[in-house]
Amino acid sequence: MADNEAPAARREYPPPERHPWHGATWARLITAIDRLPHGLLLYGPPGLGKHDFARRLAWALLCDRPAPAGDACGDCKGCRLLAAGTHPDLAQVAPAEEGKGIGIDQIRALGDFLALRPHTAAHKVALIAPADAMNLHAANGLLKQLEEPPLGSVLILVSDEPARLPATIRSRCAAIQFRPPAGAEALAWLKSRCPGGVGEHEQLLEIAAGAPLLALELGTADFLKQREQLLRDLEAVSARRESPVACAARWQAMGAERCLAWLYGFVAELLQTGLSGAGAVAGAPAYLHPFINRLNFKELFGFLDVVSGSRKLLNGPLDELLLLEDVLIRWSCTARGSSKLS
Ligand SMILES: [Zn+2]
Repeated sequence: MADNEAPAARREYPPPERHPWHGATWARLITAIDRLPHGLLLYGPPGLGKHDFARRLAWALLCDRPAPAGDACGDCKGCRLLAAGTHPDLAQVAPAEEGKGIGIDQIRALGDFLALRPHTAAHKVALIAPADAMNLHAANGLLKQLEEPPLGSVLILVSDEPARLPATIRSRCAAIQFRPPAGAEALAWLKSRCPGGVGEHEQLLEIAAGAPLLALELGTADFLKQREQLLRDLEAVSARRESPVACAARWQAMGAERCLAWLYGFVAELLQTGLSGAGAVAGAPAYLHPFINRLNFKELFGFLDVVSGSRKLLNGPLDELLLLEDVLIRWSCTARGSSKLS
């Protein structure tokens, strides 16, 4: 695509990664590659490689001589243009900046791109990810393009949260659901990609709800060690052995966003376990034990709201350290506010 037509910044050009747990979905789709629906919606939880799958499909559609299994050859003119990020028949639509939405201007530019005949390939391919980042105007604009598809165009939408897409968009796409692979397959893959001590891979997969790429990301970031520190801090603050202010500085150094995301998941897990009855409490993971009998639900729900609100404020004008201090001061009050689960 020429620069003046670009609907969005081009970001990644390496050949798309193939994941073993995509095998059956890939095989099913590739047998029908000549009669693909105009709109495809790849959806499912994060960390399953939906975006890699979407790129793999885009490359396959734009390759001049795909391999027997349907993958791009990596060597033809089309593949070389893809690797250079200059294929004129591929548009990638993504937020211009992290955390921002996809706007109507980007979708209008996409419309202009789709209106032209393919330059070198048999298709025009658009990759819209994350599709749920489209604002309402953008989604309405895309709806028109889905309703009146130019011949040979394929729109691939990727979404972790398809419920955030208008029902009209969803109903005009063929939906392809991605689910976590079987535990043994995920574990074998994770072990091949990241070193870890006894039981660590299993822990990472548990935290990642079985999503291999998310588990890998957590493992690479030394997440388990960080989690130990976070748990120690929460205990120390609730026992008044550590001041929330000192603790907040440490959390800021570890990354405020990551710490608050973890804290949200941790508190949600505490609540879910506590609400599931005595059996669930008895069988809860060891890291919940120091907390689960000391907190009451009402206060914990209130604290979950505090964490959620602080996460939303993180990229705003408020000081990050102050936000963390506020959260940890509230935690110290919550943790002291009650002597047992009620
Ligand atoms: Zn090729």
